[in-house]
Amino acid sequence: MKEIGSGTSALVVGLGYRSGLAASNFLAGKGCRVLVSDLRSRDELADTIGRLDARVEVFAGNQEPSLLDRGVDLVVLSPGVPAVIPLVTEARRRGIPVIAEIELAFRFLRGSVVAITGTDGKSTTTSLVGHVLRSLGFKALVGGNIGIPLVSLVDESSDDTVSVIELSSFQLETIELFRPDVAAILNIGTDHLDRYASMDDYFRAKLRVAMNQSAGDSFVYNMDDPALSAGIGNIASRRLGFSMTNTDAEAFLEKDTVFIRDNGAVKGVLDPSRMKIIGVHNVQNAMAALLMVVSLLRKIGREPDYPLMAEACYSFEGLAHRMERVGVLEGRLFINDSKATTVGAVEMALKSLSGGVVLILGGRTKGDDYSRLHDPIAERVRFLVLIGESSREFAGIFADIPGETADGMDDALARAMRASAEGDTILLSPACASYDMYSNFEGRGEAF
Ligand code: ADP
Repeated sequence: MKEIGSGTSALVVGLGYRSGLAASNFLAGKGCRVLVSDLRSRDELADTIGRLDARVEVFAGNQEPSLLDRGVDLVVLSPGVPAVIPLVTEARRRGIPVIAEIELAFRFLRGSVVAITGTDGKSTTTSLVGHVLRSLGFKALVGGNIGIPLVSLVDESSDDTVSVIELSSFQLETIELFRPDVAAILNIGTDHLDRYASMDDYFRAKLRVAMNQSAGDSFVYNMDDPALSAGIGNIASRRLGFSMTNTDAEAFLEKDTVFIRDNGAVKGVLDPSRMKIIGVHNVQNAMAALLMVVSLLRKIGREPDYPLMAEACYSFEGLAHRMERVGVLEGRLFINDSKATTVGAVEMALKSLSGGVVLILGGRTKGDDYSRLHDPIAERVRFLVLIGESSREFAGIFADIPGETADGMDDALARAMRASAEGDTILLSPACASYDMYSNFEGRGEAF
């Protein structure tokens, strides 16, 4: 691809709220001619258009392949737009490069790059890596799928910064040269089966995170995930597995301690019970984060300071809407896990809690097999309160579990209060997207 600059005519597909907007402004700032297409109307886009560089030409309500006739020589795809729409297919047919906003940013980004993907735990682990790196004195820039478009961080990057990037499978579909010094896949569960033809396609998209890596780079992965361990065949970088049980892993849990294998020695480095973020999954996230940081330090020739890294894991507060303790009311502990939009995340939530649990579940489904939640819920949940679009389907799946269908969040909470006893936990862990009732998972968590 020729260099991106004043000679470039770029079409950004999907203005979005963040990433398309940031990509458009970035390209305009680099002197490119920028067109942006979005299916929504000009009225719906008004807010976003207000924040757009005045030089950008907006095509609202227009995703026609004919937009390419306007001299377009680069397409930048927003993560919300499927890579199979006719406009994108036509661009590819004409030989016009189609890249993700992440790829665009990568072409300009300076410093080291750490990239994290997986089905669950991306945002938590990305933030934790950033937190640990900062505690070691690095200037860490945290962005990507976590809600801060990578292009918006490019100008802050320098040879000394470390960009810690969360990536979704959608973003990975249209990378080309993107090559992280350290990549990680946390797990591969089921998600987005409404957008992928098969689990295989979803898996392949995730593996792209390491496709451009070479021997000097590192790839961190979850050894306890059988599909992941079996599927990483052709990766050229150094592999570092983490495991809750396998003591041959580069990071593993034994006798309630996390051990790391580093330069031939095995060191006990972390006591997970001292972490504020709870649950088995967060031990995995911490192991992944530590391995990533150690790999990066080794690559740039720095000795890991394990005690400092452990302290950073202990002081990490976690993110809102992920197993977040909201407070105690009338003896009930309220936990907001609104970001649990997959079956795997709800399984982990239930594993992380003890005592009586009243679960608020439901929303917009994503094509998964929700009956997999039947047994964990039957085992752990005292009472189930269903919300959202999925209520009818879920009422069928969980028919034999005590529960009720609620009309909105207030009603769900009232029902949960009535069905619970002192000492119980009232958990919002919906297993579904929020878009049927809210504009995003944050809105749902706030309502809770
Ligand atoms: P993501 O960015 O991948 O959606 P988050 O860190 O935002 O991940 O967490 C989303 C949900 O997944 C939360 O409910 C959280 O408790 C749960 N979770 C976090 N880490 C893991 C993990 N390693 N395995 C399974 N579930 C996890």
